[in-house]
Amino acid sequence: MPEGPEVEVVKRQLEAIVLNRKIIDFSCFHEKILVGKFQDFFNILVNNHFTQIKRYGKFLVFYLNSNHVLISHLRMEGKYHLKNSLDEKNKHEHVIFTFDNLETLRYHDTRKFGRMILQKKDEYFNLPPISNLAKEPEKILLDDFYNKIKNRKRPIKASLLDQSVIAGLGNIYVDETLFLSKIHPLEESSLISRKQAADIIKNADYILKKSIGLGGTTIKSFSATNIHGKFQNELLVHTKKGMKCPVCSNKIVKIVVAGRGTYICENCQEKT
Ligand SMILES: [Zn+2]
Repeated sequence: MPEGPEVEVVKRQLEAIVLNRKIIDFSCFHEKILVGKFQDFFNILVNNHFTQIKRYGKFLVFYLNSNHVLISHLRMEGKYHLKNSLDEKNKHEHVIFTFDNLETLRYHDTRKFGRMILQKKDEYFNLPPISNLAKEPEKILLDDFYNKIKNRKRPIKASLLDQSVIAGLGNIYVDETLFLSKIHPLEESSLISRKQAADIIKNADYILKKSIGLGGTTIKSFSATNIHGKFQNELLVHTKKGMKCPVCSNKIVKIVVAGRGTYICENCQEKT
């Protein structure tokens, strides 16, 4: 599943490809991906163009040259591919934007969980899904973050996966953040100290930025356009079951937290 860094890398690649290209056709082959009516998307998108792309957490926000934005969430398996309009359609390509140079941007999603929504530029920031997002580690205030977790009984890992608590982290980066912070993922959120909360923010910011610099993490199915990130070479615990902890040489173990495969060093990340 693409997390903040992977979506940031997709954003940067798309900016180089699709901005200021006139959209001459729009088609959709699985209408559940569009939140709203196909005809509304068609009417707003065709003869329009994207002027900029922003990212909030795992959402891409495509600004149009009208009072609209197209918000895209890749969810589990969504990807964008750039192809020529004559290239054969793959069965997993559900949404296609055709540009005036006859290049096409194709939204590919094997599980069809991704969603696109059109909203007004001057409203979207105050409407779900974007209004439900917390800030990313770079911008979040310690007190805001600490206040959100201090009354919660659920495991800290579940809190960190919750985009309304802190945005941009998914399964991989939460594991890495908690390892660097020496916190057990099953620790009750309310037992996290203010100092530990500060460590989480600092380490999450460090990891997200490092990953963006390396093009994100390529694990299993994730690849967007034609990028292959290199952050998987830097992972300390995630996917490292049975390997040595880089700090204490204990074996990394895999457990399940919040329904997700979770990698920890039980020696470095003791539960209180
Ligand atoms: Zn260790």
